[in-house]
Amino acid sequence: MNPASENTEKKLIVVGGGLAGSEAAWQAAERGVDVTLYEMRPHKLTPAHETGQLAELVCSNSLGSLKAISAPGLLKEEMRRLGSLIIRTAEACAVPAGGALAVDRDRFAKNISECIKKHPRITVLHEEVKEIPPDGTIAVVSSGPLTSEALTESLKAAAQTEHLYFYDAISPILEADGIDMEIVFRASRYGKGGDDYLNCPMNEAEYDRFYEALMAGERVEAKSFEKIKYFEGCLPIEVLAERGKKTPLFGPMKPVGLVDPRTGEQPFAVVQLRAENRFGTAYSLVGFQTKMTWPEQRRIFKMIPGLEDANFLRLGSLHRNTFLNSPRILSESLQLRTQPGLFLAGQIVGVEGYVESASMGYLAGMNAARLLSGKTTAVPPENTAHGALIQYITKSNPTFFQPINSNFGLFPPVAPMIKGRYKMKKTERYQKIVERALDELSLWITQYGILNDISK
Ligand SMILES: Cc1cc2nc3c(=O)[nH]c(=O)nc-3n(C[C@H](O)[C@H](O)[C@H](O)COP(=O)(O)OP(=O)(O)OC[C@H]3O[C@@H](n4cnc5c(N)ncnc54)[C@H](O)[C@@H]3O)c2cc1C
Repeated sequence: MNPASENTEKKLIVVGGGLAGSEAAWQAAERGVDVTLYEMRPHKLTPAHETGQLAELVCSNSLGSLKAISAPGLLKEEMRRLGSLIIRTAEACAVPAGGALAVDRDRFAKNISECIKKHPRITVLHEEVKEIPPDGTIAVVSSGPLTSEALTESLKAAAQTEHLYFYDAISPILEADGIDMEIVFRASRYGKGGDDYLNCPMNEAEYDRFYEALMAGERVEAKSFEKIKYFEGCLPIEVLAERGKKTPLFGPMKPVGLVDPRTGEQPFAVVQLRAENRFGTAYSLVGFQTKMTWPEQRRIFKMIPGLEDANFLRLGSLHRNTFLNSPRILSESLQLRTQPGLFLAGQIVGVEGYVESASMGYLAGMNAARLLSGKTTAVPPENTAHGALIQYITKSNPTFFQPINSNFGLFPPVAPMIKGRYKMKKTERYQKIVERALDELSLWITQYGILNDISK
Protein backbone atom coordinates (compact mmCIF):
# COMPACT_ATOMS: atom_id res chain seq x y z
CA MET A 1 0.00 0.00 0.00
CA ASN A 2 1.31 3.42 -0.84
CA PRO A 3 -0.60 6.02 1.18
CA ALA A 4 0.80 8.96 -0.83
CA SER A 5 -2.16 9.44 -3.11
CA GLU A 6 -4.57 10.07 -0.24
CA ASN A 7 -2.83 12.91 1.48
CA THR A 8 -3.77 16.52 1.03
CA GLU A 9 -2.80 19.49 3.14
CA LYS A 10 -5.42 18.86 5.80
CA LYS A 11 -4.78 15.17 6.31
CA LEU A 12 -2.35 13.17 8.36
CA ILE A 13 -1.09 9.64 7.76
CA VAL A 14 -0.07 7.65 10.84
CA VAL A 15 1.82 4.41 10.27
CA GLY A 16 1.57 1.91 13.14
CA GLY A 17 -1.23 1.70 15.70
CA GLY A 18 0.80 0.87 18.79
CA LEU A 19 1.28 3.05 21.87
CA ALA A 20 2.82 5.96 19.94
CA GLY A 21 0.66 5.76 16.83
CA SER A 22 -2.62 5.58 18.77
CA GLU A 23 -1.66 8.61 20.85
CA ALA A 24 -0.44 10.53 17.78
CA ALA A 25 -3.60 9.81 15.79
CA TRP A 26 -5.83 10.81 18.71
CA GLN A 27 -3.99 14.06 19.43
CA ALA A 28 -4.05 15.15 15.79
CA ALA A 29 -7.72 14.22 15.35
CA GLU A 30 -8.70 16.05 18.53
CA ARG A 31 -7.07 19.13 16.98
CA GLY A 32 -9.26 18.94 13.92
CA VAL A 33 -7.09 16.91 11.55
CA ASP A 34 -8.42 14.00 9.46
CA VAL A 35 -6.23 11.03 10.24
CA THR A 36 -5.73 7.77 8.38
CA LEU A 37 -4.10 5.27 10.70
CA TYR A 38 -2.46 2.22 9.12
CA GLU A 39 -1.99 -0.85 11.30
CA MET A 40 -0.85 -4.07 9.65
CA ARG A 41 -2.19 -6.39 12.35
CA PRO A 42 -4.05 -8.78 12.45
CA HIS A 43 -3.28 -9.59 8.78
CA LYS A 44 0.43 -9.39 9.48
CA LEU A 45 1.57 -9.88 13.06
CA THR A 46 4.93 -8.86 14.49
CA PRO A 47 6.91 -11.59 16.30
CA ALA A 48 5.60 -10.25 19.65
CA HIS A 49 2.03 -9.01 19.03
CA GLU A 50 -0.85 -11.51 19.12
CA THR A 51 -4.01 -9.57 18.25
CA GLY A 52 -5.37 -7.00 15.85
CA GLN A 53 -6.12 -4.50 18.63
CA LEU A 54 -4.47 -1.11 18.67
CA ALA A 55 -2.05 -0.34 21.52
CA GLU A 56 -1.47 -3.98 22.34
CA LEU A 57 1.05 -4.39 25.18
CA VAL A 58 3.59 -6.93 24.00
CA CYS A 59 5.02 -8.00 27.34
CA SER A 60 4.42 -6.75 30.87
CA ASN A 61 1.02 -5.22 31.67
CA SER A 62 2.74 -2.54 33.78
CA LEU A 63 3.24 1.01 32.57
CA GLY A 64 5.71 1.61 35.39
CA SER A 65 5.84 3.61 38.59
CA LEU A 66 3.13 6.01 39.67
CA LYS A 67 5.29 7.50 42.41
CA ALA A 68 4.93 11.28 42.18
CA ILE A 69 8.62 11.88 42.90
CA SER A 70 10.07 9.57 40.26
CA ALA A 71 10.98 10.15 36.62
CA PRO A 72 8.40 7.67 35.25
CA GLY A 73 5.78 9.13 37.63
CA LEU A 74 6.57 12.63 36.42
CA LEU A 75 6.27 11.62 32.77
CA LYS A 76 2.81 10.18 33.51
CA GLU A 77 1.73 13.31 35.38
CA GLU A 78 2.83 15.48 32.45
CA MET A 79 0.89 13.26 30.06
CA ARG A 80 -2.15 13.44 32.32
CA ARG A 81 -1.97 17.23 32.22
CA LEU A 82 -1.53 17.18 28.45
CA GLY A 83 -4.66 15.07 27.99
CA SER A 84 -3.03 11.80 26.89
CA LEU A 85 -5.41 9.11 25.65
CA ILE A 86 -3.01 6.33 26.68
CA ILE A 87 -2.72 7.49 30.29
CA ARG A 88 -6.43 8.22 30.68
CA THR A 89 -7.32 4.77 29.33
CA ALA A 90 -4.65 3.04 31.41
CA GLU A 91 -6.06 4.62 34.55
CA ALA A 92 -9.56 3.52 33.59
CA CYS A 93 -8.34 -0.06 33.06
CA ALA A 94 -5.96 -0.20 36.05
CA VAL A 95 -5.55 -3.33 38.15
CA PRO A 96 -4.01 -3.34 41.65
CA ALA A 97 -0.21 -3.23 41.36
CA GLY A 98 1.18 -1.45 44.42
CA GLY A 99 2.88 1.75 43.32
CA ALA A 100 2.73 0.94 39.61
CA LEU A 101 0.18 1.64 36.89
CA ALA A 102 -0.70 -1.85 35.65
CA VAL A 103 -3.65 -2.51 33.39
CA ASP A 104 -6.00 -5.25 32.29
CA ARG A 105 -4.26 -5.55 28.90
CA ASP A 106 -7.30 -6.77 26.93
CA ARG A 107 -9.59 -4.05 28.26
CA PHE A 108 -6.87 -1.46 27.71
CA ALA A 109 -6.26 -2.39 24.06
CA LYS A 110 -9.99 -2.79 23.36
CA ASN A 111 -10.79 0.59 24.91
CA ILE A 112 -8.07 2.35 22.92
CA SER A 113 -9.19 0.60 19.72
CA GLU A 114 -12.79 1.61 20.36
CA CYS A 115 -11.93 5.26 21.10
CA ILE A 116 -9.79 5.52 17.97
CA LYS A 117 -12.23 3.72 15.67
CA LYS A 118 -15.22 5.74 16.91
CA HIS A 119 -13.45 9.06 16.48
CA PRO A 120 -15.18 10.86 13.60
CA ARG A 121 -11.88 12.13 12.23
CA ILE A 122 -9.94 8.85 12.30
CA THR A 123 -10.06 6.08 9.70
CA VAL A 124 -8.24 2.88 10.61
CA LEU A 125 -6.96 0.72 7.76
CA HIS A 126 -5.54 -2.68 8.67
CA GLU A 127 -2.85 -2.75 5.99
CA GLU A 128 0.88 -2.94 5.91
CA VAL A 129 2.62 0.21 4.72
CA LYS A 130 5.69 -0.82 2.77
CA GLU A 131 7.23 2.56 2.07
CA ILE A 132 7.56 5.67 4.12
CA PRO A 133 5.19 8.37 2.90
CA PRO A 134 6.92 10.51 0.24
CA ASP A 135 8.22 14.03 0.49
CA GLY A 136 5.47 16.61 0.79
CA THR A 137 3.25 14.31 2.90
CA ILE A 138 2.58 15.14 6.53
CA ALA A 139 2.88 11.83 8.33
CA VAL A 140 3.88 10.16 11.57
CA VAL A 141 5.80 6.89 11.32
CA SER A 142 5.47 4.98 14.58
CA SER A 143 5.94 1.39 13.49
CA GLY A 144 7.82 0.39 16.62
CA PRO A 145 10.76 -1.81 17.53
CA LEU A 146 9.36 -4.63 15.36
CA THR A 147 8.73 -2.62 12.18
CA SER A 148 7.93 -4.86 9.18
CA GLU A 149 10.79 -5.73 6.87
CA ALA A 150 9.58 -3.80 3.84
CA LEU A 151 9.08 -0.60 5.80
CA THR A 152 12.45 -1.08 7.50
CA GLU A 153 14.11 -1.18 4.09
CA SER A 154 12.39 2.05 3.14
CA LEU A 155 13.37 3.67 6.45
CA LYS A 156 16.94 2.55 5.89
CA ALA A 157 17.00 4.42 2.61
CA ALA A 158 15.43 7.56 4.09
CA ALA A 159 17.62 7.56 7.20
CA GLN A 160 20.71 6.29 5.37
CA THR A 161 21.54 2.72 6.32
CA GLU A 162 24.14 3.50 8.93
CA HIS A 163 21.61 5.46 11.01
CA LEU A 164 19.19 2.58 11.56
CA TYR A 165 19.95 -0.13 14.11
CA PHE A 166 18.43 -3.55 14.70
CA TYR A 167 19.08 -4.17 18.34
CA ASP A 168 20.07 -2.13 21.34
CA ALA A 169 23.06 -2.81 23.55
CA ILE A 170 22.52 -0.83 26.70
CA SER A 171 25.06 -0.44 29.47
CA PRO A 172 23.90 0.51 32.97
CA ILE A 173 23.75 4.22 33.78
CA LEU A 174 24.39 5.54 37.28
CA GLU A 175 24.21 8.85 39.09
CA ALA A 176 27.51 10.72 39.50
CA ASP A 177 26.57 11.40 43.09
CA GLY A 178 27.00 7.75 44.18
CA ILE A 179 30.47 7.29 42.67
CA ASP A 180 33.26 7.23 45.26
CA MET A 181 35.79 9.72 43.91
CA GLU A 182 38.26 8.69 46.63
CA ILE A 183 38.70 5.44 44.70
CA VAL A 184 37.81 6.35 41.11
CA PHE A 185 40.20 8.52 39.07
CA ARG A 186 39.81 10.70 36.00
CA ALA A 187 41.95 9.90 32.97
CA SER A 188 41.85 8.78 29.36
CA ARG A 189 44.06 5.99 28.00
CA TYR A 190 47.57 7.30 27.28
CA GLY A 191 46.32 10.75 28.28
CA LYS A 192 44.43 11.04 24.97
CA GLY A 193 41.07 12.77 25.31
CA GLY A 194 41.76 14.68 28.52
CA ASP A 195 39.89 13.71 31.67
CA ASP A 196 36.80 12.47 29.90
CA TYR A 197 36.64 9.06 31.59
CA LEU A 198 36.25 7.99 35.19
CA ASN A 199 38.21 4.83 35.95
CA CYS A 200 37.38 2.27 38.62
CA PRO A 201 40.65 0.46 39.36
CA MET A 202 40.76 -3.23 40.35
CA ASN A 203 43.58 -5.28 41.79
CA GLU A 204 43.94 -8.96 40.87
CA ALA A 205 41.98 -10.28 43.83
CA GLU A 206 39.13 -7.85 43.14
CA TYR A 207 39.13 -8.86 39.47
CA ASP A 208 39.00 -12.56 40.37
CA ARG A 209 35.97 -12.06 42.59
CA PHE A 210 34.26 -9.88 39.99
CA TYR A 211 34.96 -12.38 37.21
CA GLU A 212 33.52 -15.28 39.21
CA ALA A 213 30.40 -13.25 39.91
CA LEU A 214 30.02 -12.36 36.20
CA MET A 215 30.30 -16.00 35.20
CA ALA A 216 27.72 -17.08 37.75
CA GLY A 217 25.35 -14.12 37.26
CA GLU A 218 21.77 -15.04 36.39
CA ARG A 219 20.80 -14.09 32.80
CA VAL A 220 17.58 -13.19 31.04
CA GLU A 221 16.63 -15.71 28.35
CA ALA A 222 16.23 -14.17 24.90
CA LYS A 223 12.83 -14.59 23.21
CA SER A 224 12.86 -16.90 20.17
CA PHE A 225 12.83 -13.99 17.71
CA GLU A 226 15.58 -12.27 19.63
CA LYS A 227 18.38 -14.73 18.97
CA ILE A 228 20.83 -11.99 18.33
CA LYS A 229 23.96 -12.47 16.28
CA TYR A 230 26.11 -10.16 18.37
CA PHE A 231 28.53 -7.80 16.71
CA GLU A 232 31.98 -8.31 18.18
CA GLY A 233 32.04 -4.74 19.45
CA CYS A 234 28.75 -5.15 21.29
CA LEU A 235 29.09 -8.47 23.11
CA PRO A 236 27.43 -8.62 26.53
CA ILE A 237 30.11 -8.42 29.18
CA GLU A 238 29.18 -11.86 30.56
CA VAL A 239 29.45 -13.42 27.06
CA LEU A 240 32.87 -11.86 26.72
CA ALA A 241 33.82 -13.30 30.12
CA GLU A 242 32.73 -16.78 28.97
CA ARG A 243 35.45 -16.69 26.31
CA GLY A 244 38.15 -16.79 28.94
CA LYS A 245 39.24 -15.22 32.18
CA LYS A 246 41.57 -12.79 30.47
CA THR A 247 39.25 -11.78 27.64
CA PRO A 248 37.64 -8.77 29.43
CA LEU A 249 41.19 -7.59 30.22
CA PHE A 250 41.77 -7.16 26.49
CA GLY A 251 38.33 -5.62 26.03
CA PRO A 252 36.40 -3.08 28.09
CA MET A 253 38.38 -3.80 31.27
CA LYS A 254 41.83 -3.33 29.76
CA PRO A 255 44.06 -1.24 32.00
CA VAL A 256 46.75 -0.31 29.48
CA GLY A 257 47.56 3.37 29.15
CA LEU A 258 46.06 4.17 32.56
CA VAL A 259 47.93 4.99 35.74
CA ASP A 260 46.17 5.26 39.06
CA PRO A 261 47.46 8.57 40.47
CA ARG A 262 47.15 7.21 44.02
CA THR A 263 49.50 4.26 43.47
CA GLY A 264 51.46 5.59 40.50
CA GLU A 265 50.85 2.19 38.85
CA GLN A 266 48.70 0.64 36.19
CA PRO A 267 45.79 -1.20 37.84
CA PHE A 268 45.24 -4.91 37.10
CA ALA A 269 41.89 -4.06 35.49
CA VAL A 270 39.64 -1.03 35.12
CA VAL A 271 35.99 -0.32 34.50
CA GLN A 272 35.57 2.95 32.64
CA LEU A 273 32.66 5.34 33.06
CA ARG A 274 31.67 7.86 30.40
CA ALA A 275 29.50 10.94 30.97
CA GLU A 276 25.93 10.40 29.82
CA ASN A 277 24.97 14.06 29.64
CA ARG A 278 26.55 17.47 29.34
CA PHE A 279 25.85 18.20 33.01
CA GLY A 280 28.13 15.38 34.24
CA THR A 281 25.40 14.11 36.55
CA ALA A 282 25.13 10.61 35.08
CA TYR A 283 27.66 8.09 33.80
CA SER A 284 27.43 4.82 31.85
CA LEU A 285 29.68 1.79 32.25
CA VAL A 286 31.62 1.60 28.98
CA GLY A 287 31.19 -1.73 27.18
CA PHE A 288 29.03 -3.24 29.91
CA GLN A 289 25.94 -4.10 27.88
CA THR A 290 24.47 -7.15 29.53
CA LYS A 291 21.68 -9.69 29.61
CA MET A 292 21.98 -10.35 33.33
CA THR A 293 18.83 -9.91 35.39
CA TRP A 294 18.35 -6.54 37.06
CA PRO A 295 18.95 -7.74 40.67
CA GLU A 296 22.13 -9.48 39.51
CA GLN A 297 23.35 -6.34 37.75
CA ARG A 298 22.85 -4.30 40.93
CA ARG A 299 24.63 -6.89 43.05
CA ILE A 300 27.54 -7.60 40.71
CA PHE A 301 28.25 -4.07 39.46
CA LYS A 302 28.33 -2.80 43.04
CA MET A 303 31.37 -5.06 43.51
CA ILE A 304 33.32 -2.67 41.25
CA PRO A 305 35.61 -0.53 43.43
CA GLY A 306 34.14 2.96 43.75
CA LEU A 307 30.62 1.85 42.82
CA GLU A 308 29.63 0.24 46.12
CA ASP A 309 27.03 2.99 46.75
CA ALA A 310 26.07 3.48 43.11
CA ASN A 311 22.54 4.62 42.37
CA PHE A 312 21.51 3.01 39.09
CA LEU A 313 19.36 5.25 36.91
CA ARG A 314 18.83 2.46 34.42
CA LEU A 315 20.13 -1.07 34.05
CA GLY A 316 21.67 -2.78 31.08
CA SER A 317 19.89 -4.78 28.40
CA LEU A 318 20.28 -6.14 24.93
CA HIS A 319 17.36 -6.93 22.69
CA ARG A 320 15.89 -6.79 19.24
CA ASN A 321 14.89 -3.24 18.49
CA THR A 322 14.63 -1.20 15.33
CA PHE A 323 15.65 2.35 16.14
CA LEU A 324 17.15 5.38 14.46
CA ASN A 325 20.25 7.33 15.29
CA SER A 326 17.98 10.26 16.11
CA PRO A 327 20.69 12.79 17.06
CA ARG A 328 21.95 12.59 13.48
CA ILE A 329 18.68 12.70 11.61
CA LEU A 330 15.81 14.16 13.67
CA SER A 331 14.96 17.73 14.61
CA GLU A 332 13.68 18.58 18.10
CA SER A 333 10.12 18.37 16.79
CA LEU A 334 10.84 14.76 15.68
CA GLN A 335 10.81 15.54 11.97
CA LEU A 336 13.30 13.93 9.65
CA ARG A 337 15.73 16.74 8.87
CA THR A 338 15.99 15.67 5.24
CA GLN A 339 12.21 15.37 4.88
CA PRO A 340 10.38 17.97 6.98
CA GLY A 341 6.77 16.96 7.55
CA LEU A 342 7.75 13.34 8.17
CA PHE A 343 7.55 12.82 11.94
CA LEU A 344 8.96 9.76 13.67
CA ALA A 345 7.58 8.63 17.03
CA GLY A 346 7.64 5.88 19.61
CA GLN A 347 10.37 3.44 20.37
CA ILE A 348 11.84 3.86 16.89
CA VAL A 349 13.20 7.31 17.82
CA GLY A 350 15.28 5.83 20.64
CA VAL A 351 13.05 5.90 23.71
CA GLU A 352 12.29 2.77 25.68
CA GLY A 353 9.05 1.86 27.36
CA TYR A 354 5.32 2.01 26.78
CA VAL A 355 4.82 5.46 28.31
CA GLU A 356 7.94 6.99 26.77
CA SER A 357 6.78 5.70 23.36
CA ALA A 358 3.29 7.15 23.86
CA SER A 359 4.75 10.49 24.96
CA MET A 360 6.73 10.76 21.73
CA GLY A 361 3.51 9.90 19.88
CA TYR A 362 1.80 12.76 21.68
CA LEU A 363 4.45 15.28 20.60
CA ALA A 364 4.53 14.06 17.00
CA GLY A 365 0.73 14.03 16.64
CA MET A 366 0.31 17.41 18.30
CA ASN A 367 3.05 19.01 16.21
CA ALA A 368 1.84 17.44 12.97
CA ALA A 369 -1.55 19.04 13.69
CA ARG A 370 0.12 22.39 14.37
CA LEU A 371 2.01 22.17 11.10
CA LEU A 372 -1.21 21.38 9.23
CA SER A 373 -2.84 24.42 10.87
CA GLY A 374 -0.03 26.72 9.80
CA LYS A 375 1.41 27.05 13.31
CA THR A 376 5.00 26.69 14.46
CA THR A 377 5.90 23.42 16.12
CA ALA A 378 6.22 23.44 19.92
CA VAL A 379 9.16 21.77 21.66
CA PRO A 380 8.71 21.17 25.40
CA PRO A 381 11.26 22.83 27.75
CA GLU A 382 14.27 20.67 28.60
CA ASN A 383 13.39 20.78 32.31
CA THR A 384 10.20 18.79 31.69
CA ALA A 385 10.21 14.98 31.36
CA HIS A 386 9.06 15.30 27.74
CA GLY A 387 11.70 17.93 26.98
CA ALA A 388 14.48 15.97 28.69
CA LEU A 389 13.70 12.96 26.50
CA ILE A 390 13.63 15.14 23.37
CA GLN A 391 17.00 16.67 24.27
CA TYR A 392 18.47 13.22 24.83
CA ILE A 393 17.25 11.74 21.59
CA THR A 394 18.11 14.71 19.39
CA LYS A 395 21.24 16.15 21.04
CA SER A 396 23.18 13.18 22.46
CA ASN A 397 26.54 12.19 21.10
CA PRO A 398 25.44 10.17 18.04
CA THR A 399 28.45 7.86 18.26
CA PHE A 400 27.25 6.33 21.53
CA PHE A 401 23.52 6.74 21.03
CA GLN A 402 21.37 4.04 22.68
CA PRO A 403 17.66 4.02 23.59
CA ILE A 404 16.66 5.52 26.92
CA ASN A 405 13.82 5.42 29.42
CA SER A 406 12.75 8.44 31.46
CA ASN A 407 15.16 8.88 34.37
CA PHE A 408 16.40 11.74 36.54
CA GLY A 409 19.84 11.60 34.91
CA LEU A 410 18.36 13.26 31.80
CA PHE A 411 17.36 16.46 33.59
CA PRO A 412 19.51 19.56 34.01
CA PRO A 413 20.70 19.65 37.64
CA VAL A 414 18.75 21.63 40.24
CA ALA A 415 21.68 21.86 42.64
CA PRO A 416 25.44 22.36 42.20
CA MET A 417 27.84 19.46 42.78
CA ILE A 418 30.83 20.03 44.99
CA LYS A 419 33.69 17.57 44.50
CA GLY A 420 31.41 15.18 42.68
CA ARG A 421 28.74 15.21 45.42
CA TYR A 422 25.49 17.06 45.84
CA LYS A 423 24.98 18.96 49.05
CA MET A 424 21.23 18.58 48.67
CA LYS A 425 19.61 15.29 49.70
CA LYS A 426 18.46 13.02 46.89
CA THR A 427 14.79 13.17 47.90
CA GLU A 428 14.87 16.97 48.02
CA ARG A 429 16.68 17.15 44.67
CA TYR A 430 14.18 14.89 42.95
CA GLN A 431 11.28 16.81 44.45
CA LYS A 432 12.70 20.03 43.02
CA ILE A 433 13.16 18.47 39.57
CA VAL A 434 9.50 17.42 39.61
CA GLU A 435 8.23 20.81 40.80
CA ARG A 436 10.32 22.66 38.23
CA ALA A 437 9.13 20.33 35.45
CA LEU A 438 5.45 20.76 36.24
CA ASP A 439 5.78 24.56 36.57
CA GLU A 440 7.53 24.79 33.21
CA LEU A 441 5.05 22.42 31.60
CA SER A 442 2.18 24.69 32.66
CA LEU A 443 3.94 27.74 31.24
CA TRP A 444 4.63 25.91 27.98
CA ILE A 445 1.03 24.77 27.66
CA THR A 446 -0.13 28.37 28.08
CA GLN A 447 2.56 29.97 25.95
CA TYR A 448 2.00 27.68 22.95
CA GLY A 449 -1.73 27.12 23.50
CA ILE A 450 -1.06 23.37 23.49
CA LEU A 451 -4.56 22.50 24.70
CA ASN A 452 -6.43 25.34 22.96
CA ASP A 453 -7.26 23.56 19.71
CA ILE A 454 -8.69 20.44 21.29
CA SER A 455 -12.33 19.88 20.39
CA LYS A 456 -14.53 19.98 23.46
C1 LIG B 1 9.42 -8.00 22.88
C2 LIG B 1 9.30 -6.66 23.51
C3 LIG B 1 8.88 -6.56 24.82
C4 LIG B 1 8.74 -5.29 25.43
N1 LIG B 1 8.31 -5.25 26.71
C5 LIG B 1 8.12 -4.04 27.28
C6 LIG B 1 7.60 -3.96 28.61
O1 LIG B 1 7.33 -4.97 29.24
N2 LIG B 1 7.43 -2.74 29.15
C7 LIG B 1 7.71 -1.60 28.47
O2 LIG B 1 7.50 -0.50 29.01
N3 LIG B 1 8.21 -1.65 27.21
C8 LIG B 1 8.42 -2.84 26.60
N4 LIG B 1 8.93 -2.91 25.34
C9 LIG B 1 9.39 -1.68 24.69
C10 LIG B 1 8.33 -0.71 24.11
O3 LIG B 1 7.82 0.03 25.14
C11 LIG B 1 7.20 -1.34 23.39
O4 LIG B 1 7.72 -2.04 22.30
C12 LIG B 1 6.18 -0.30 22.90
O5 LIG B 1 5.06 -0.99 22.48
C13 LIG B 1 6.69 0.62 21.81
O6 LIG B 1 5.66 1.46 21.34
P1 LIG B 1 5.57 1.87 19.81
O7 LIG B 1 4.28 2.55 19.61
O8 LIG B 1 6.79 2.56 19.42
O9 LIG B 1 5.58 0.46 19.04
P2 LIG B 1 4.45 -0.67 19.05
O10 LIG B 1 3.60 -0.60 20.24
O11 LIG B 1 5.15 -1.94 18.74
O12 LIG B 1 3.55 -0.26 17.80
C14 LIG B 1 4.01 -0.32 16.49
C15 LIG B 1 2.87 -0.80 15.63
O13 LIG B 1 3.23 -0.66 14.25
C16 LIG B 1 2.73 -1.78 13.55
N5 LIG B 1 3.53 -1.90 12.33
C17 LIG B 1 4.82 -2.28 12.20
N6 LIG B 1 5.19 -2.20 10.91
C18 LIG B 1 4.12 -1.76 10.22
C19 LIG B 1 3.88 -1.47 8.84
N7 LIG B 1 4.82 -1.63 7.93
N8 LIG B 1 2.65 -1.03 8.46
C20 LIG B 1 1.66 -0.88 9.37
N9 LIG B 1 1.82 -1.15 10.70
C21 LIG B 1 3.05 -1.57 11.10
C22 LIG B 1 2.88 -2.92 14.52
O14 LIG B 1 2.01 -3.98 14.22
C23 LIG B 1 2.53 -2.26 15.84
O15 LIG B 1 1.18 -2.37 16.16
C24 LIG B 1 9.07 -4.13 24.70
C25 LIG B 1 9.51 -4.24 23.38
C26 LIG B 1 9.62 -5.49 22.78
C27 LIG B 1 10.08 -5.56 21.37
